[in-house]
Amino acid sequence: MKMRTILFGLALLMSVGAMAEVKIVAHRGYWRTAGSAQNSLTSYKKADQVPCYGSEIDIWISKDGVIYVNHDKTFKGCCIEKSTAAECDKVILDNGEKMPTFEEYLKVVKQGKAELVIEVKTHDDLARQNLCIDKALNLVKKYKLQNRVSYIAFDLAACLRIIEKAPKGTEVYYLNGDLAPKTLKRVGCAGIDYRDKVLKTDHPKWIDECHRLGMKVNVWTVDTKEDLEYFVSKGVDYITTNEPELLKSILKK
Ligand code: MG
Repeated sequence: MKMRTILFGLALLMSVGAMAEVKIVAHRGYWRTAGSAQNSLTSYKKADQVPCYGSEIDIWISKDGVIYVNHDKTFKGCCIEKSTAAECDKVILDNGEKMPTFEEYLKVVKQGKAELVIEVKTHDDLARQNLCIDKALNLVKKYKLQNRVSYIAFDLAACLRIIEKAPKGTEVYYLNGDLAPKTLKRVGCAGIDYRDKVLKTDHPKWIDECHRLGMKVNVWTVDTKEDLEYFVSKGVDYITTNEPELLKSILKK
């Protein structure tokens, strides 16, 4: 009986511990707030103020080799991959900022505390995508931010290149939702970063499977109170959300 009570207590502590450890990642920065816009420098600062554990961005490389931070392949008429830096610099975000370069972004991250989750977008040309990865890694090194960044990508080839080229211990997560944790473990991924539907409906067992393998689980993009509470209860490691304040209030309870 006594042992059973102790075990129950331990299980309770472990579940509370797991819930407390959920980390907030702001999806494309914290942009659903005054003065902000997706992937803007402000969105990082706002995420840092919440405070979020991490702030996510998306990166593309321009035709002449400058990395820009934006989600869309073509944004306000500018296809980043096929445009020059001079053309990309003319793009204005919804909050009035210019579209930031990755280097401008890193300078702001250097001043903050939140980690940066860097999504390497799938480029049309693999060689350009590889160049984007190599240059991004060099810039992160230049600003000595290696210990404050992780990488995510839909393209497994991108994940593999980052794992190969980044300093040992750099966390790389795969986004596409189609590979089992054990497959990703074999190639050196730190964990999965999967869509909510994959982890709630299609493969709910992958959360525990990841943890058994010593891997981490991130889930995106979770925005409703009900879904946030669901994934908090499942003990995922990170939740990527457009509603970081809502998640913060749930975690405080
Ligand atoms: Mg993204």
